[in-house]
Amino acid sequence: MALLEVQNLHVHFPIRRGLLTRAPGTVKAVDGVSFSLAPGETVGLVGESGCGKTTVARALVRLVPVTKGRIFYAGRDVTALNGAALRAWRRQVQMVFQDPYSSLDPRMTVGQAIGEALDIHGLAANRTERRERVEKLLLDVGLEGSHADRYPHELSGGQRQRVGIARALAVEPKLLVCDEPVSALDVSIQAQIVNLLQDLQREHGLTYLFIAHDLAVVEHLSRRILVMYLGRIVEAGEAREVCRAPRHPYTQALLSAVPGVDPDQKRTRLILPGDPPSPLNPPPGCPFHPRCPLAEARCRVERPVLYEHTPGHFTACHLVDAPRPPRPFGSTAPGAAATSPA
Ligand code: SF4
Repeated sequence: MALLEVQNLHVHFPIRRGLLTRAPGTVKAVDGVSFSLAPGETVGLVGESGCGKTTVARALVRLVPVTKGRIFYAGRDVTALNGAALRAWRRQVQMVFQDPYSSLDPRMTVGQAIGEALDIHGLAANRTERRERVEKLLLDVGLEGSHADRYPHELSGGQRQRVGIARALAVEPKLLVCDEPVSALDVSIQAQIVNLLQDLQREHGLTYLFIAHDLAVVEHLSRRILVMYLGRIVEAGEAREVCRAPRHPYTQALLSAVPGVDPDQKRTRLILPGDPPSPLNPPPGCPFHPRCPLAEARCRVERPVLYEHTPGHFTACHLVDAPRPPRPFGSTAPGAAATSPA
């Protein structure tokens, strides 16, 4: 059974100009996303900024409301949980943020910040046990117990991210949603944090949804990759397959900008014209057509569906041949691994 199954997730935000005016439009930040995570698996979610990947993350941990679609955790529908049931479930799914500085209260010591997470879920019987658990968590993420007495501004960026990870781990989650956890760090520190996440996954049997725009990092960490564009998944498959044989022109452009993903393969840098269109007013047909070097007449009117053209590899593009009858992406029952090889 999948640990997490996301079915047809939509997150739309109405735009309002004034308190009493009608919403003149809707931002379709996430517009029909389906995927699953098997226990212990890492799935990478990539795309340019503004493609909706962070909104997917925030919807999964219920920081933004779900407009439509369902989220199953271990087979249980958690889409509409609230109150005590939501608080209890949140122990299972924690988020690691891009900027730990903004997620840590500058007035709290590291020990207080991590201890707060323990207190919310009643995981320490007294002050002594609380301190012991905080120090153990700090050691687990490569810091020292004495870091508990420091404030966030006294730490480096890498140390703050380690504290963010320790705080997430304090409640013993099964799933970590990591939203660009290394993109604000120096390259040398990025590698240390990626290695730490891998070590913690092995030790604790964690499952990761790893969100990033750097495909090299995502390929290194992930078994499968999902590529998002304008609120939808446009390509999905095994990480090696997607990175070595990308089929969607958008994935090809993303990969062409990454040196060293495939040292055996020389790529010509593909520069996409313009910025991604606004999710407030997405183009008709294939949403990628205004920037696609291969666009043809059909692309301007007909939206391509995400189909499995080779086992386990799904692409939404009219130019990618699909076997007949094709299996649409995310067409499996709740709890099944929708994106796993057939
Ligand atoms: Fe490009 Fe057309 Fe494929 Fe969209 S469907 S990615 S516009 S070729």
